[in-house]
Amino acid sequence: AWFQAPSLRRVFSVLNAEGGEARIVGGAVRDALIGRPVADIDLATTLTPDEVIARADAAGIKSVPTGLAHGTVTLVIDGKPFEVTTLRRDVTTDGRHAEVAFTTDWEEDARRRDLTINALYADAEGRIYDHVGGLPDIESRTIRFIGVAAERVAEDYLRVLRFFRFFAWYGSGRPDAEGLKACARARDHLASLSAERVWSETKKLLTAPDPGRALLWMRTSGVLTAILPESEKWGIDAIPGLVSAEDAFGWTPDPLLRLVAMLPPDAERIAALCQRLRLSKSEAARLTRWAACLPIPEKTAEAALDRRLYRDGTDGALMRLKLDLALAHSKRETEPEALQRIAALQRLLARTERFEKPRFPLTGADVLAAGVPAGPAVGDILSMLEEQWVAENFAADRKSLLTRLATAVADAKPSN
Ligand code: ATP
Ligand code: MG
Repeated sequence: AWFQAPSLRRVFSVLNAEGGEARIVGGAVRDALIGRPVADIDLATTLTPDEVIARADAAGIKSVPTGLAHGTVTLVIDGKPFEVTTLRRDVTTDGRHAEVAFTTDWEEDARRRDLTINALYADAEGRIYDHVGGLPDIESRTIRFIGVAAERVAEDYLRVLRFFRFFAWYGSGRPDAEGLKACARARDHLASLSAERVWSETKKLLTAPDPGRALLWMRTSGVLTAILPESEKWGIDAIPGLVSAEDAFGWTPDPLLRLVAMLPPDAERIAALCQRLRLSKSEAARLTRWAACLPIPEKTAEAALDRRLYRDGTDGALMRLKLDLALAHSKRETEPEALQRIAALQRLLARTERFEKPRFPLTGADVLAAGVPAGPAVGDILSMLEEQWVAENFAADRKSLLTRLATAVADAKPSN
């Protein structure tokens, strides 16, 4: 159905007219052949970027020069983006950026791609073009570099992480031996990659349905330690249990949770990791809150949990509880004690997921209105009342808090 989408037909009709030619390439072809949902559609074309833009203009299609330097124009049809890239061949490379030149030769374009499964093309009629043996590799779920693995890796060391990422998503059995060896030998070069590229690939790897096997091979080849020296020696042992718990409890796979499962809860090292890999602010905040979150005993009463969540937020607690649950689950104990522990943790988790931070009913304006002069005392009184209110499980309403406020103000006044 995705192949017949009117927006895609439109792209083809514009680019395929008058001697031009376009084919779908990369992830979309791969995923369609494997039977996974197709996300973005990238196209390769014999037309130059200028020609693509001119044709889009003439057809009234919006075009955005998203990567002119490497030949990419994004066409937007019905709000859907299509990345259209002119066929290229590599000219030079320094292991971090490749310099490319345009070409009209499909095979040259295929040869500069990383993996055989990523170098398949499909034309407007759905015919598949395979210049590098990608089809049999898709069939056998083999992740293989195009050409000599060691050379391809040396052209762009990010391909090491892509090798494991695609192995995590699509690979079966053992990784291709030549590729694995090339990746292992390149591990000391990974430090030269930009942090953003490394983190983006790592996150995609950690989002795979089951990244456990790939992580194991990354560990044995020394690649995991090269990009994540914080990961504990046996950290990846927690991954299969977590994946199984996600399945059993219906959790959406969460790359950050999978990451922390491999890390020691050491705030300083976590902070260093977030900086080194340039995690986004919100990602870093989640990891930091997790590292700061003390264990939540399974016997915690609901009211005590609520107070804790009010003070510390839910982020860290959610991750803690899920990891504890995954651990309990992975022991596969059937003893009543273990089952009780799982049930208790599930209860705490459900409550944490439902928790909505209650709003403290008073503000600074109320304190001022009660006659406290502007200054630090306003905040002090407010925090004192708020802390009482939390300690009493948020029971007091605005009216009774105002009465308390009045009393506190009267008590604080020197009585003469
Ligand atoms: P997805 O978008 O689902 O992650 P994808 O295959 O589309 O997977 P992208 O990173 O979007 O991956 O890249 C698009 C295509 O560009 C790839 O399929 C591959 O052919 C080529 N490619 C991407 N990165 C590299 C690289 N570092 N070296 C060589 N070719 C690459
Ligand atoms: Mg893509």
